[in-house]
Amino acid sequence: MESISRKDKLLSLIVPVYNEEEVLDVSFEKMDAAMKSFGYPYEIIYVNDGSRDSSLSKLREIAGRNSHVKVISFSRNFGHQLAVTAGMDHAKGDALIIIDVDLQDPPEVIGDLIAAWEKGADIAYGKRVKRKGETIFKKLTAFMYYRLLKSMSAYPIPLDTGDFRLLDRKVADTFLQMREHNRFLRGMSAWMGFEAVPVEYVRHERYAGKTKYTLKKMLKLAFDGITGFSDRPLTLSMGFGIFLSVMSVLGLIALLILALTIGVAPWLWAVAGFALINGIMFINMGIQGAYMNRMYHELLNRPLYIVKEKINIESEEV
Ligand code: UDP
Ligand code: MG
Repeated sequence: MESISRKDKLLSLIVPVYNEEEVLDVSFEKMDAAMKSFGYPYEIIYVNDGSRDSSLSKLREIAGRNSHVKVISFSRNFGHQLAVTAGMDHAKGDALIIIDVDLQDPPEVIGDLIAAWEKGADIAYGKRVKRKGETIFKKLTAFMYYRLLKSMSAYPIPLDTGDFRLLDRKVADTFLQMREHNRFLRGMSAWMGFEAVPVEYVRHERYAGKTKYTLKKMLKLAFDGITGFSDRPLTLSMGFGIFLSVMSVLGLIALLILALTIGVAPWLWAVAGFALINGIMFINMGIQGAYMNRMYHELLNRPLYIVKEKINIESEEV
């Protein structure tokens, strides 16, 4: 690794904020002290996601006292994933760090993310080994969801990992080329590849206030994760249709044999015929799904491929 002079590299800390007046002051103090201790120049970018409390005036006040604090304020609530994206769009750093404002991701752990980055990681992500102060419902649904997602996704989305992570500049630039509207950042991060290194940590309780992720928001995020990174839901009906059609054709053959020998009740023909028609309809839905899937991926318009390194090729050459 080339010797990094800390003075040459800028860190950007990106913090989404939605109705967080109770936590902002303490959160800023802790994060600012942590960032100062790492020895790099840094900026803290707050994205106010349409808060209806006094968050924005608190942010104004913090930014007034600290010129390395920047604030982007949305016209309304666009959601956490878009708030983080806006912060990344404006970040100037050589490494971008995404963290929740509520101190659930402890600011000290940023030091471990930076250490992994200094050792050459392109992405360093926080992996929760324990979650404190969250409801059984949240822990259980999160546990099941992460496992469901991993089993369905075509890309290795790590278990028990949220958006708390560090992205190297080259990763962030690639990431920002993806302009899909229904964003699931950790899935997009997994899709990109690169060298992603886990950093284990204990997730703390929220410092104050209540979760801003309502059940509705959580369900949308869960749905975006599955539909954005798995084709399974579309292929399910094709598989079911083939199964149903084959079974009903076998049933019809069996009925024919029985009809020619001992005879069958007429309604059995109707049942088998009905099952076959349904099977064909499911296959047809699967075919339509396959075309929709193709259109969906064309619309997403993600980069076709991502180059990490070129050897004996000038960077301007395509
Ligand atoms: N957040 C946001 N917009 C939203 C919901 C949440 O910017 O619509 C922010 C919130 O202020 C916090 C982070 O996203 O910094 C994570 O939210 P929260 O802590 O409420 O979620 P939880 O940790 O309970 O999943
Ligand atoms: Mg939280």
